[in-house]
Amino acid sequence: MRGLSSSKKMIPIVEGLFEWPSESPRLIASRCPLCGSVQFPKSSVCNNPDCTHDATPEEIKLSEEGILYSYDIHMYDLREPFSYHKAPYAIGAIELPEGIIILARLTRYEGLKIGMRMRLKIDRLYEDDENVYLTYFFEPVEDGGEEK
Ligand SMILES: [Zn+2]
Repeated sequence: MRGLSSSKKMIPIVEGLFEWPSESPRLIASRCPLCGSVQFPKSSVCNNPDCTHDATPEEIKLSEEGILYSYDIHMYDLREPFSYHKAPYAIGAIELPEGIIILARLTRYEGLKIGMRMRLKIDRLYEDDENVYLTYFFEPVEDGGEEK
């Protein structure tokens, strides 16, 4: 992947959030076969209070593109164990075609506009002496990204 040239091992910060290793990883979610409720991260139980909960949600892969629904710019560093979040950085709410809005780090914090098209990007969150830890970001589609 572009920008991830390293001899270190690249591993997801949490297992099961996205497909990895993969040439075009997608977020892993779940959908209830009864009521259609979509959850991310995936869950073994439907979270819809109006659902009968008589079926186990099935695993689905979320679309790679969505719309920036809202965002917030954080102007402070987080403390341990999350000190890899260095200010300033943006957290966005991304509305996906599956009918779910998910929160994610954005690849930049300047020039954001509500309603702009955003695309999933798995990228480096931080690294130590052995590993590069990856998580899911969303980047503005206008920034380009990887060729498919
Ligand atoms: Zn349900």
